[in-house]
Amino acid sequence: MLTQNLGYPRIGGQRELKKVCESYWAGKTGHKNVLTVGKTIRHENWQIQKDAGIDLIPSNDFSYYDHVLDHSLMFGAIPKRYNEVILKQGNEELDLYFAMARGYQKDGLDVVAMEMTKWFDTNYHYIVPEFCKDQQFKLFSTKITNEFYEAKQLGIITKPVLIGPVSYLLLGKEKEAGFEKIDLLKNLLPVYSEILTKLQDLGAEWIQFDEPFLLLDLSEKEQQAYRNTYKQLRKEFPRLKFVLTTYFEKLGNNADLATSLPVDALHIDLVRAPQQLDEVLDMLPAKTILSLGLVDGRNIWKNDFEASLTIIQKAKEKLGDERIWIAPSCSLIHSPCDLKSENNNRVLTPEIKQWLAFAKQKVNEIALLKSLSTDNPGVGTQYKLAENKHDNASRKTSTLIHNNIVKERVASIVESDVQRKSTFQLRKQKQQELLNLPLFATTTIGSFPQTAEVRSWRAQLKKGVITQAQYDLHIAEETEKAVKWQEDINLDVLVHGEFERNDMVEYFGEQLQGFTFTQNGWVQSYGSRCVKPPIIYGDVSRPNAMTVKWSAYAQSLTDKWMKGMLTGPVTILQWSFVRNDQPRSETCTQIALAIRDEVCDLENAGIKIIQIDEPAIREGLPLRKADWTAYLDWAVKAFRISASGVQDDTQIHTHMCYSEFNDIIQSIADMDADVITIETSRSQMELLDVFADFKYPNEIGPGVYDIHSPRVPNKDEMTYLLKKARAVIPDTQLWVNPDCGLKTRGWDETKKALIEMVAAAKEMRATI
Ligand code: GLN
Ligand code: ZN
Repeated sequence: MLTQNLGYPRIGGQRELKKVCESYWAGKTGHKNVLTVGKTIRHENWQIQKDAGIDLIPSNDFSYYDHVLDHSLMFGAIPKRYNEVILKQGNEELDLYFAMARGYQKDGLDVVAMEMTKWFDTNYHYIVPEFCKDQQFKLFSTKITNEFYEAKQLGIITKPVLIGPVSYLLLGKEKEAGFEKIDLLKNLLPVYSEILTKLQDLGAEWIQFDEPFLLLDLSEKEQQAYRNTYKQLRKEFPRLKFVLTTYFEKLGNNADLATSLPVDALHIDLVRAPQQLDEVLDMLPAKTILSLGLVDGRNIWKNDFEASLTIIQKAKEKLGDERIWIAPSCSLIHSPCDLKSENNNRVLTPEIKQWLAFAKQKVNEIALLKSLSTDNPGVGTQYKLAENKHDNASRKTSTLIHNNIVKERVASIVESDVQRKSTFQLRKQKQQELLNLPLFATTTIGSFPQTAEVRSWRAQLKKGVITQAQYDLHIAEETEKAVKWQEDINLDVLVHGEFERNDMVEYFGEQLQGFTFTQNGWVQSYGSRCVKPPIIYGDVSRPNAMTVKWSAYAQSLTDKWMKGMLTGPVTILQWSFVRNDQPRSETCTQIALAIRDEVCDLENAGIKIIQIDEPAIREGLPLRKADWTAYLDWAVKAFRISASGVQDDTQIHTHMCYSEFNDIIQSIADMDADVITIETSRSQMELLDVFADFKYPNEIGPGVYDIHSPRVPNKDEMTYLLKKARAVIPDTQLWVNPDCGLKTRGWDETKKALIEMVAAAKEMRATI
């Protein structure tokens, strides 16, 4: 029985990689320094895994920005627009690489970055490979062999990780018409052969092929591509050993296909899909090894050794010791690095800490599970088992976790809690009477610039340099200024600006019971950007109102309508580490009830327009379409629970800032928000067609300008877009607003852009 790891976090325990990359981009350090930091992190990671006793330690799991981009560079899939960057004197491979990731604006060159998108259903984002019709591949970057050699010098024969050829192609995008990306396989496979030859010559024994697309719905052609690919690689490399890894879902109807591929080991995710074990055990060919993905790579909870040992035992009976490996469910890049860095008992209490395991702890768990499944585990090992039992038992019974009032409230939700009191048509009338807003009403999405100054107040408060009262005064003044100038430029529905918020999830998590935080629990989101998700460990409740003070204060400063601003239950769930001892839907419902109470408190405080942001609804969609309905049912219900406590004349808004609505428009409509604001400017309003075709009945604010760029749009561009909008959606349904919140923008461009936006709305009204 062996242990393997599929990938280790590469940001460094203190986010060293982020820091050095950002300082390189700012021109403050040289490229050698970046390479040195990278090397140090790799060595540390290998050492940690070796010390833990992992048998098969991965290499090429390290990346300076993104592992998919690493593959594009390795295969020479470099879009033509970077040619000049390559040729430029003095540029290193690293500069080309970062140019592809982030764009290149230097010495008269201006090349845009490659597109980025989410890695399956995680919060990690990868750089999308770009393919053209006559796409050629050739070995360009030798990072994979360099890193194998580097580890070998340290005495570690690693298992190089490659994204499998089929998944690599399917991750990409066809940049012109007239071909299918999967047809590029014949051009791509020779490069894989070249790389495998080099790795074999260097002494590699095992190769890891990540093929997460084996978890998705595959066309007949894609299935055939899998068969051909592995048949060919097997034939060419009879001596190399292949482990095929699948994660994030069950193999489902691809189980037949996956188990039929000629590989030496198959890895399956038994955290997300424990139910697939029996089937895979039955189908596995006679000599194939099964790698059991038992330790959760996507979450921070300690493994339940007893439960894992039961699974190992079962597999052992069927396959024997030799044909079983123990592994994390997926790569550990989705876990924070090391729980030992959490040493502030006030941030993370010892009681909660004993329930957690980060990457470094997880590799130890994997090794321990192996020791525990031998016939005579030593005393020390048995002690660890007892300790694990104790910790998990303490979590099950902890009074910190269980709140019967919350559980009873969830159990007693009735249909009327999930429904607004009247239909949208009736609500619309009452809202019109009360709110008296013009057609093409103008508003913003919530946040105003979080300037360095605003952030410095929060830092000072945290350090104790200023008191809470001083901090509040700063925020009050900033809010007042924002309200004043929104009045000056004549916006119709104002916002308070969200200056008091560090982050749209953390701000609420900090005030809700059942949430805790880490000091250093960073996870890579994309490139150098890391996030520190809150941990939902227990039943969620709201001890006090969370936003009423600032919203009510802002409303008191103006006669115009002030919009209250909340983050929705699905988004709070989606951007946190969620407890695994009850269904996610249950946790989401608890959050929904807390938000509902906040909505009602806002209404009681005189706030008659309330926005509940749900930008993450779509990213929670399961990987397989067959599972969508079940998810959408509870997600939509959670939103409705949070929104339905108010009177008819209170207007509920929601906001979503991604673009694809085609396949979920029915669910968007079922949310029944009175107004939805969405991102549309970059698609030139084309995204509105889905709403038009559906005859979406409620009101819509299609974003009229892109907030991701500092560029100031002018009135005419926006009237142009609004005219396109009115061609498909009736005037009586349209709002005017930017694409998203303005927190990343500067005040100067924000003011100029919004003045133009208000002028555009006025022009539209004049044409009615
Ligand atoms: N209200 C939030 C803001 O304006 C919404 C952010 C988001 O959609 N991600 O910042
Ligand atoms: Zn947004």
